[in-house]
Amino acid sequence: MEKEELALRIEKIRRALEKEGIETDEEALKKDFQKYLDFDISPDEAELRILRKHGIMPRDAARKKIGEIGIEPISVTVSGKIVSINSAVSTVDGEERKRYYGIIGDDTGTIPFGAWNTDLSNLSKGDSVEIESAFVREWNGNPQLRITKKTRIGKTEEDFDVKFSQRASREANLADISERDRVSIKARILSIEEREITVRGESKTIYSGIMADESAKVQFTAWKDFGLKTGDIISADGAYVRSWKGVPQINLDEGMTIEKIEEDFPTMEELDAGKTMKIEDAENKTGMTDVIFEGTAIQIRNGSGLIFRCPNCRRVLQDGVCQVHGEVEGVPDLRIKAVIDDGTGAINTIIGKALTEKVLDKDIKKCLKEVRAKMDKGIIGKQIESVLEAMPVRIRGNLVSDDNGHTLIATDIEMVKDDPAERARHLIEEWGV
Ligand SMILES: [Zn+2]
Repeated sequence: MEKEELALRIEKIRRALEKEGIETDEEALKKDFQKYLDFDISPDEAELRILRKHGIMPRDAARKKIGEIGIEPISVTVSGKIVSINSAVSTVDGEERKRYYGIIGDDTGTIPFGAWNTDLSNLSKGDSVEIESAFVREWNGNPQLRITKKTRIGKTEEDFDVKFSQRASREANLADISERDRVSIKARILSIEEREITVRGESKTIYSGIMADESAKVQFTAWKDFGLKTGDIISADGAYVRSWKGVPQINLDEGMTIEKIEEDFPTMEELDAGKTMKIEDAENKTGMTDVIFEGTAIQIRNGSGLIFRCPNCRRVLQDGVCQVHGEVEGVPDLRIKAVIDDGTGAINTIIGKALTEKVLDKDIKKCLKEVRAKMDKGIIGKQIESVLEAMPVRIRGNLVSDDNGHTLIATDIEMVKDDPAERARHLIEEWGV
């Protein structure tokens, strides 16, 4: 080991010991350190062992430049300059508490910090500090430093030329965005509508709809009025991705810049047509908006047909009983649970009332009448089996996922090689309806 490096290492150990009030003999430290090296112990490990010998358990916080901090929940040590610091009093469990929050920066970037249980009244704007063992947590796709009881903060003499910049976002196609990404995208607005929501007791206007590029359609929410209209082509830098049931959604938030651009881009009609994809390709995704599969309905599952739902919670009733609300007057509904196979894979689908009526070519009233006439609740499910099972279909919808895997919530279904007259004849022959 080079002499300079050795001297630096020893100085580092000496300072760490001094911080804990331990006076050391430099020569003894050097000897100690060299002894570890002679035993083929790495310099890093040797440092740790010497500190441990003096009763210091170095924390496992990773030293990071502020710009390097990602959103992984880890413990970090950073040095930087306090760019801003404020306090606020809030009441928690009837007790008033002072909380501190602010921004710290170094020459690679800035990061917000917050402290709930730590008194930071000795810190002011412009102070250089070392924050040891702060916890990184994620907030809206960006990291924050949380100062806890374990965190130690010391003022330093170091000066920082703070770099203010937005966190880098990566350019992405809408097909390959995923939860918690910050992305830079280009897309066309296919639909947009205004909605009122309540955030922390206050009403707020947001704008949501569907946007698309050549690769995919995605739902989006704009948290302020960017003046977006149907048909606009936009470029958005720093858009934040959140998922709902595995389906990625784009968030356009307050601080972002969104530009309307004019360039060659697929038309509304082209984008609206939807993407036909293979089921095996869908299996790698956590979710997708508006996709099409072409395959065969290989199985009609139990629970398909005429069902009754709880009027309060929409749960499907078992023998007139809701598992939450007990015995209730059921609301009739129709649905199909089918497995579609396209040769590359198979997927569960749920087909709601309107589409089930389309498949059966009759409405729910007629179904109810038939059920009463035949005194057989299961008759509709059997009819669905006979018209749909083993039939080729083109099914469109939103792909969601949870612990049980993927499900396509259908928005449309077409019977390929469809012949309504044939279907009607078939039903009459087989069921007399
Ligand atoms: Zn209920």
